[in-house]
Amino acid sequence: MDAAKIIDGVAVAKQVRAEVARDAAALIARGVTPGLTVVLVGDDPASAVYVRAKEKACVEAGMNGKTIRLPADTSQADLLALIDQLNADPTVHGILVQMPVPKHIDPQAVILRISAEKDVDGFHPVNVGRVWIGEKNGFAPCTPAGVMVMLEKAGVNVTGQNVVILGRSNIVGKPMVSLMVAASATVTVCHSKTRDLPSVVRGADILIAAIGKPEFVKADMVKPGAVVIDVGINRVDDASNPKGYRIVGDVDFAAVSQVASKITPVPGGVGPMTIAMLLKNTVRAATQRLA
Ligand code: NDP
Repeated sequence: MDAAKIIDGVAVAKQVRAEVARDAAALIARGVTPGLTVVLVGDDPASAVYVRAKEKACVEAGMNGKTIRLPADTSQADLLALIDQLNADPTVHGILVQMPVPKHIDPQAVILRISAEKDVDGFHPVNVGRVWIGEKNGFAPCTPAGVMVMLEKAGVNVTGQNVVILGRSNIVGKPMVSLMVAASATVTVCHSKTRDLPSVVRGADILIAAIGKPEFVKADMVKPGAVVIDVGINRVDDASNPKGYRIVGDVDFAAVSQVASKITPVPGGVGPMTIAMLLKNTVRAATQRLA
């Protein structure tokens, strides 16, 4: 079998960001500049990198991108009070509190406090419910929403296909189920208690791996011709790399790309889609406010 066609997440994300910039320009012409405010509590270096990337992407799309940085010892009450202010601010259309928050803050309390209309991360239970029952005004979490766009742009029709999702987190696995069911796929979800996982995974026409285990999916777990989407982002030690590590996905890319028909790489696959979808949700939040 020929090696799999690579689904280029950087290129798809660029297309989405161009669409977002066009939609943002149309809103600006109507007097509304879509605005995203990201709140970062503490100084986790990985979170700081993500937050900078989000702000930069907003500005590039012609939107207002603002970051509020709070010290690690900020109290939960102070953070919730800030969210109340942002909920009430008409120039803020999207609010995102970068996770993880420090241990003394309850992440669920934070998620619940953000107005569902500004919850562009799609984690508020109201949005989870809206997406699940198919209400168009709901915000889907950005990573699984990005996977759906990648599949569409790669010409993969999910209708009637056997989709196996590896992982059941609230951030990726569960919302992926919701979006795939809505798109008329036949969906199976695997997790750490799944019996004979390899044989379940081998039934997939489309496999979505989101478990956070480096190169977990091997070639003999993949049906020849399957489409493989790798959500995983894992650091593995690599003495040959100047950084001392490299990033790999949840799929053994070298081997699986010999079996799959289409596959996403890591890095350069699903990762870039997440920010693109965040911008898209923010523009939609601003548009819905005008309606
Ligand atoms: P979580 O750790 O929250 O969830 C992992 C899921 O995988 C759980 O449901 C767990 O099962 C399941 N799992 C773990 N080990 C196994 C195993 N050996 N066999 C079967 N199932 C297993 O991870 P996330 O969903 O947050 O993230 C998953 C991956 O995606 C990570 O690598 C993360 O970095 C990446 N990610 C990438 C993003 C992007 O591209 N922008 C965004 C978000 C995440 P159980 O529920 O039974 O414990």
